[in-house]
Amino acid sequence: MPDLKKLGWTDFFAQSFEPFRKQGFKIGRVAIENRDCYSVLTAEGEVTAEVAGRLLFTRESAADLPKVGDWAVMLQFEASERAIIQEILPRKTKLSRKVAGKKFDEQVLATNIDVIFVVQSLDDNFNIRRLERTLVMVNESGAQAVVILNKTDLSDSVKRLVAEAKSVAGGVDVLAMSAKKDRGLRPLKKYIKEGKTFAFIGSSGVGKSTLINSIVGEDVQLTREVRADAKGRHTTTRRELVLVPGGGCLIDTPGMRELQLWHADEGLTETFTDIEELATHCHFSDCTHTKAVKCAVLAAVENGDLARERYDSYMKLQQELKFLESKQTAAGYAENRRRQRSQGKLYKQIQAEQRKRKKKM
Ligand code: GDP
Ligand code: ZN
Repeated sequence: MPDLKKLGWTDFFAQSFEPFRKQGFKIGRVAIENRDCYSVLTAEGEVTAEVAGRLLFTRESAADLPKVGDWAVMLQFEASERAIIQEILPRKTKLSRKVAGKKFDEQVLATNIDVIFVVQSLDDNFNIRRLERTLVMVNESGAQAVVILNKTDLSDSVKRLVAEAKSVAGGVDVLAMSAKKDRGLRPLKKYIKEGKTFAFIGSSGVGKSTLINSIVGEDVQLTREVRADAKGRHTTTRRELVLVPGGGCLIDTPGMRELQLWHADEGLTETFTDIEELATHCHFSDCTHTKAVKCAVLAAVENGDLARERYDSYMKLQQELKFLESKQTAAGYAENRRRQRSQGKLYKQIQAEQRKRKKKM
């Protein structure tokens, strides 16, 4: 049975759980989201849980319901019974996308991920503009982004492509490797540590499964049999959060493959630090960088300091985000987001306090 630390439990969560703990509530981490129930990993083993009616009816949106990666506060349970999820603890990070189709709803893909590996492969898949887009989403989630350029064995221009990726990655690590030939994986493995949660995102075929197998080992069960109904029929479900034998938790939900832009403000500024820096030199503080009059960003494009493609990409993403935001405001999402942001603040505050305490020791 895993202890909670191995599952990613930290002081951040312990603090918000404290009042519940005093009242005798149990805690566990959501590993699978089924249609009508959840599998939750606890210090006493795996339990099946349902969401309390109160949580179902008082939530403001579907995004507030338990997701893979969440810490679920549950009522006391017997091994044979279903537990009831009363509450989820404030999230440290949250990876979201826009639901597919015409709706403007948020879909939370997974929560409390520490490191997200953004994978592209060095064949036709490599695409700088898509990398920028994905980084905006990952940075917005609060998780640390790491770029992986896989299939180095298929390219003669690895160095150039790594440099290209670095030029748009805003300071995040860019690792080049070949999962198939087992070359260059060591720097990646340094991120996989006990208590840390990680995930891989990227298009189909870039080598995510191959990478996961070489880290997690083929023998770790990503799928398992569950009893589906009273008749004892069995079905196979994918376990979406697994413990890595050497330490660390892997989250792999199906939706992670396609990230549709949902919302970003810090995510955009963190990804385009170069443009944000230039913008501080624009004459007008509300400069839209669309008219050349005293605009430092456009001046940089003109003199070649800033690639026009990157400028275009930034403007396009900003436009899209504005459009999405106007739709979301109409749908009443603004309040929801303010709440999320204040949780993020709380997290940063707690981290700062911990650092201070460590220094004193
Ligand atoms: P996923 O869809 O992202 O999970 O990708 P897979 O791991 O299933 O890999 C897709 C295909 O690419 C498979 O045929 C792999 O064997 C192959 N592949 C994975 N990594 C590499 C690599 O480093 N080099 C080459 N040449 N092929 C790779
Ligand atoms: Zn400007």
